[in-house]
Amino acid sequence: MIFRVFEKEELRQLFDILSDHNRVVGPVEAGRDRNGRPVYAFSDVREFNDIRLNHTVTKLPAKRYFLPFKEDLATFTIEKDNWHKSIAYNIERPFVLFGLHPCDINALNKLDKVLLHSVYPMPYYAAKRKNMFIIGLDCVPQPYCFCRSMGADTALHGFDMFITDLGSRYFVEILTDTAYNFLRHIRTEEPGEEDHILYMKVVAERNEKFTAHVDTTDLAKILDMEFQSDVWKYWGDRCLACGTCANVCPTCYCYGVEETVEINLKGARKTKMLYSCNVIDFAEVAGGHNFRPERHTRLKYRYYHKHRGFVEAFEESLCVGCGRCGESCLADITVPEVIASVRGSGGNE
Ligand code: SF4
Ligand code: SF4
Repeated sequence: MIFRVFEKEELRQLFDILSDHNRVVGPVEAGRDRNGRPVYAFSDVREFNDIRLNHTVTKLPAKRYFLPFKEDLATFTIEKDNWHKSIAYNIERPFVLFGLHPCDINALNKLDKVLLHSVYPMPYYAAKRKNMFIIGLDCVPQPYCFCRSMGADTALHGFDMFITDLGSRYFVEILTDTAYNFLRHIRTEEPGEEDHILYMKVVAERNEKFTAHVDTTDLAKILDMEFQSDVWKYWGDRCLACGTCANVCPTCYCYGVEETVEINLKGARKTKMLYSCNVIDFAEVAGGHNFRPERHTRLKYRYYHKHRGFVEAFEESLCVGCGRCGESCLADITVPEVIASVRGSGGNE
């Protein structure tokens, strides 16, 4: 890894260079909540001034740019006795993700394990993932962020360059030669000793700001032991089965595939749609049998996939602790509270 520092106004120039030939997606202010606080979202950005470098966690992750909620996998045209199948990976040109926080970079790294490096990689995901240039950005922990407990508060890989705000200038970690070549177009310099000291001070101050916490010690084993626990019924009875938690989650990738045929029998399509394991028909199979008709069973399996099954497969949790699911849940179901109650240290054990 190479380190450099640069003056803040240089970032605007870097943005202009990148946006000259690429689509740039970054955090913008999408509106205000009922308390007047800004709501942030990832969106296409054409002007540097539209990017909010001080953004807090966006309501939705950047997932839709590489794992769209709805995507055609194949289309079919039928003429006379011939039919033609067409496959598009739905990526027109390379794009830049400008300002991804460490939790969201770690979420991408986890998705890669399943969708890029597993026995059956997903070419639709791979095509987008390989055409992404990622600029990571440090963040200010919010009261609901427990990424530190999940080991996702810093990103060691999965980005091209990562920027940390030192106050008067930026400290940048360079991971790829693409990033190195882009940075040659702006003025940067070797960090001095005082930059390193300042960087460590900034990191230490950020670490002080984490307040939410999840005890993950032996969690996979504890989940095995508590499979029949009443806590699942408690949380399941509160759950509205709306599926919001999976929609806002940067690591949820479960999907269903639907095949439709045009009424004139001249065309058809196969469409992938992201799904949520909490909605009522998630485990319904052909013939109408539903393996998980009860809300508490579905909610339980969501937690078991994140904190038990994924750990067994990849030695890490499928949760990065971004806190989005808890912040968006109308039933106030949060990961720290659910895990604490399963461990017997919350109020609902
Ligand atoms: S967002 Fe909350 S209420 Fe909706 S499915 Fe998820 S846990 Fe249940
Ligand atoms: S489960 Fe919740 S806290 Fe964990 S990564 Fe998904 S949205 Fe974030």
